[in-house]
Amino acid sequence: NETTVQSELRDAVRSIPDYPKPGIVFRDITTLLGNARAFRRAVDELVQPWAGSKIDKVAGIEARGFILGGAVAHQVSAGFVPIRKKGKLPHKTVSVAYALEYGEDIIEMHADALVEGERVVLVDDLIATGGTAEAAVKLLRQLGAEVLAACFVIDLPELGGAERLRKLGVPVRTLIGFE
Ligand code: AMP
Repeated sequence: NETTVQSELRDAVRSIPDYPKPGIVFRDITTLLGNARAFRRAVDELVQPWAGSKIDKVAGIEARGFILGGAVAHQVSAGFVPIRKKGKLPHKTVSVAYALEYGEDIIEMHADALVEGERVVLVDDLIATGGTAEAAVKLLRQLGAEVLAACFVIDLPELGGAERLRKLGVPVRTLIGFE
């Protein structure tokens, strides 16, 4: 049974069939971001379980995780750490490769973005298979971060990503699910 907040968020997401390829329904959050009330609600809800706990850094995954993660970091008075596709960060980086449907991808973070023991919350717009988020968790742990949680506005539960992260010992928060 969905709460009012959840149905408000669900209504703010635009669904685009067959994008970027046939059979995929793209869940577009630009409509949610453009709606002041829905954007605020999403940010408030994402971090609600950790209100009052000390968070050192919020890590956001390129590119939509930057928008949400930046707002979340401000909200909880934490620093922000960008996790980017290979080759975009200018200073010394650490990286993790992860499998895609065809081939692999690499994500990176600045090697000095975190110090050991820092308490970090990971943020992205959506979790599907969890491949990207799992790689991000590995990256954060490589630098000795304590990953307090991974937060997503949207879950695609049939793809099992949230379960995959929980198996790594990461608490997962998602606000709405789409079949
Ligand atoms: P995954 O690694 O399979 O969990 O995919 C998650 C990443 O891909 C996130 O950064 C999402 O923004 C993006 N993504 C995957 N599937 C969708 C979808 N159906 N609609 C919008 N974004 C998606």
